[in-house]
Amino acid sequence: MKITFLGTTCTQPTPSRNHSGILIEIDGDAILLDCGEGIQRQLRVAKKRITKIKHICVSHWHGDHCLGLPGLLSSMASDQISHKVQIYGPEKSKLFLSHMLQGFYSHGVCEHDCSEHEQGTLFKSRMYSVSAHKLVHSVPSIGFKITVYKQRKIIKDLLESKRVPTTLWGKLQQGETVKFDGKMYRPEQYTVQDDPLILCYIADTIMGDHLYTFCEDADIIISESTFLHEHVEKAKEVYHMTSQQAAMVAHHVNAKRLILTHPSLRYKNTKRLLEEAQVIFPNTMFAEDFTEVNIE
Ligand SMILES: [Zn+2]
Repeated sequence: MKITFLGTTCTQPTPSRNHSGILIEIDGDAILLDCGEGIQRQLRVAKKRITKIKHICVSHWHGDHCLGLPGLLSSMASDQISHKVQIYGPEKSKLFLSHMLQGFYSHGVCEHDCSEHEQGTLFKSRMYSVSAHKLVHSVPSIGFKITVYKQRKIIKDLLESKRVPTTLWGKLQQGETVKFDGKMYRPEQYTVQDDPLILCYIADTIMGDHLYTFCEDADIIISESTFLHEHVEKAKEVYHMTSQQAAMVAHHVNAKRLILTHPSLRYKNTKRLLEEAQVIFPNTMFAEDFTEVNIE
């Protein structure tokens, strides 16, 4: 899995930070988490093909997370994308998207579907699944969890002792039940599978117990980190997080890695935000635009 940060700012873009967008490349698929203004250009700078994007997950309909959609969907149409793009977001997503797409003369946007979610699985493949989790922000907001399944390992001795032909092992490894000599062989009995890798994206939200529940099994957490803790009251007032709070979540759920993003424009740089988090959770980094993280 490869994570590419395309935009990492808060309310307004800066010379070095674009509005929000994270590209996840996994199992041959490309998934976009949020689509702030300018994301299609960021994709081109990062040399990512926009026609590869199948799923767009919009955390909420504040402009810094969604205003890139009309342009991206228009460019996908002119690049003759061959599949339907699936767009997922919280309540009112269909309404907001339709308003956005009616705001200008257009040669058309690519074929797409938009669905609204608060909780639960959005889509899955053989290798991964993506689910939505309710956050608490000033407007309806959802976070996204990506679960990456590890490949099953064959219990060779057991299959050999049952004389199951090796030609059937591949199916068991892919999680399928096979039939041999009148008997059913289930993957749970003849393969072992390690725990999946879990990535949680905490988009705009206020701190709260909902984050411990959302991230309880997370290995990697990407979190908004708008404020320093000295501005915790301001953070509460505008339904955002401090970097210390993001680190507390990562520490509490025993995550392996924390990646911060979305700093307030009031800070000249992210040094103190990062330091504050690292005191609580040392394996923290602050994402810049075009930061790439490869996960084995
Ligand atoms: Zn935001």
